[in-house]
Amino acid sequence: MDILIYPHDILLTRAEPVKTIDGSLQEFIDAMIARMYRARGIGLAANQVGSLRQLLVMDCRQEEGKPPSPVVLINPVISACEGSEVQEEGCLSVPDFTATVKRPSEVEVKGFDRHGREVVMQAGGIEARCLQHEIDHLNGICFVDRLGPVKKALFRKKWAKLRAAAARKAQSAAREGRRQ
Ligand code: ZN
Repeated sequence: MDILIYPHDILLTRAEPVKTIDGSLQEFIDAMIARMYRARGIGLAANQVGSLRQLLVMDCRQEEGKPPSPVVLINPVISACEGSEVQEEGCLSVPDFTATVKRPSEVEVKGFDRHGREVVMQAGGIEARCLQHEIDHLNGICFVDRLGPVKKALFRKKWAKLRAAAARKAQSAAREGRRQ
């Protein structure tokens, strides 16, 4: 399961609601959770792994030595929000780049858990931010799309350099690979 890199088409496309919760969806959810932890992320939206399904996984309470407690949300919708907060954000699909983004500080999200039970989540702090970031993904929006014009111009410049450096690294790794 690969994590797509911005600006992949699937990252810019709105995901479709999940209609059936079956065994193959459960397997997909488990794979997403494993992928999130492996990438050391706190949240992952299905678009980011190439699937246009309204589905996200997150875990903002990871602690060394404690059993993980991932949250799974299917067809999540923000039903209320309050306050406003500026915080630094990063994204597994935009590696090596962070920027501050203004968002509501508290949200209520309605959706379904992996067993199809209706859930209402009230969240603040990092959890509220993570929920909004992942739900943005499901709507085809990356956090860099939310930057103002000046910050966005800076991002574009920096991102072009970062991608060029990543491409060079991949090329030389491929050459090394051929030699061995
Ligand atoms: Zn992200």
